[in-house]
Amino acid sequence: MDKEQPVEMDSKQPLDETETIHTNPDRRRFIEATPYHHALQRRHFMLFEILPFLGTVFALVLAFYYPPGALEFILFFGLWFISGLGVTLGYHRHVGHRAFKASNFVRGTLIGMGFLGTQGPLISWAATHRLHHSSSDEPDDPHSPNLHGKDLFSRIKGLFHAQVMWMRKHDYPSVSHFVPDLYHDRFIMKLDRYYMKVAIAGLIFPAVVGAFYYQTLIGTLNCFLWGSVIRLFVVDHIIWSINSVLHTTGKRLFETGDESRNGYFISLITLGESFHNNHHAFPGSAFFGLAWYRPDPAYWVLKTLEYFGLVWDIRVPSKQAIKRKLRKKNNEQ
Ligand SMILES: [Zn+2]
Ligand SMILES: [Zn+2]
Repeated sequence: MDKEQPVEMDSKQPLDETETIHTNPDRRRFIEATPYHHALQRRHFMLFEILPFLGTVFALVLAFYYPPGALEFILFFGLWFISGLGVTLGYHRHVGHRAFKASNFVRGTLIGMGFLGTQGPLISWAATHRLHHSSSDEPDDPHSPNLHGKDLFSRIKGLFHAQVMWMRKHDYPSVSHFVPDLYHDRFIMKLDRYYMKVAIAGLIFPAVVGAFYYQTLIGTLNCFLWGSVIRLFVVDHIIWSINSVLHTTGKRLFETGDESRNGYFISLITLGESFHNNHHAFPGSAFFGLAWYRPDPAYWVLKTLEYFGLVWDIRVPSKQAIKRKLRKKNNEQ
C-alpha cells in the first residue's frame, strides 16, 4: 500500500474539504478582556500551571524518601488516560469541532472527564480554540510559537509563549462569534458552570483513595501528588506541546496555510492529538490519524463507543478529499 494513501473510511457524513469552523460573520470578533477576565486568567494560571510545577518538583524530591507505591502509579496513569480522553474527545473533537454526536449522558461524561484536565472552562476553551484554527500562526492566534522573530532567542521565547505563557493573560474571544452553537446549547451552558467544582473534586479524589488505602498521612500525600499534581503537570504539558512543538517541527502531510505539523513519536501518549497537521487540514474530522497506520487511540475509543450505540454520526473526510489536500511529496518537510 502507498504509505501516503490513507485507507478508505466508512463515513455517515463525509466532510466537505471546504468545511470551516462555523462562525457568525456579523458579530464582532473579540471582546476586550476586562481586568476581571485577566484576574480569572491569572488565578487559573497560578492554580493549574504554577502550583503543579512547584508540586512536581516537591514530589520528585519526596520520592527519594518515600517512594510511590503501585496505587500511586495506577492513579497517575488511570487519571492521565481519563482526563486526556476527556480533553480530546469531550472538549476538542465533540465540543470544539462537533465531529460526532452523542446523548447528553455520554456528552456529559466525556466533558466531565475533560474538566479533570483543568484546561479551563469549556465555552471559553472552545472559543479560544476556534480562534486558533481561524487565524493559525497569524497575529490573532492566541498561542502561535512563530510570531516572536526568527533568531534563536526569539524562537525559544515563542515556544515558551505557546507552551504556557500565553495563558497568563490573553484576549477573550467573542463567544457569539466563535461558538454561537454552544451559546444556544443549554446542556453545554449548564454543564460549564460545574467546571471548577469537578476539576477540584478530581484533584481531591486521589487523596481520598490514598487515605482509605494507606491510612497514613504520607500515603495520602503521595497519592495526591502522583494522581493529581504530577499527573496534571505531565498531561497539561504534553497537550500544550501540541501548540508549541507541533507548530514548529514535524512532518507536514497536508497544505494547511499554517505551520501545523504531525508528531508521530507522541501519538500514543497524546491519544492521537499529535497528528496536528492532519487536524488543521480537516478540523471537523473525528479521526486525526486519517489512516490505520497512524495510531489514534481516542478514535479507537470512539469507534468502540459507536459499536455499542453510544455515539453516532462520526465525521471523517472522504478518501478523495484527503487525496486532494495532500502536499506534493517533494515539498514535504
Ligand atoms: Zn494548531
Ligand atoms: Zn482543533
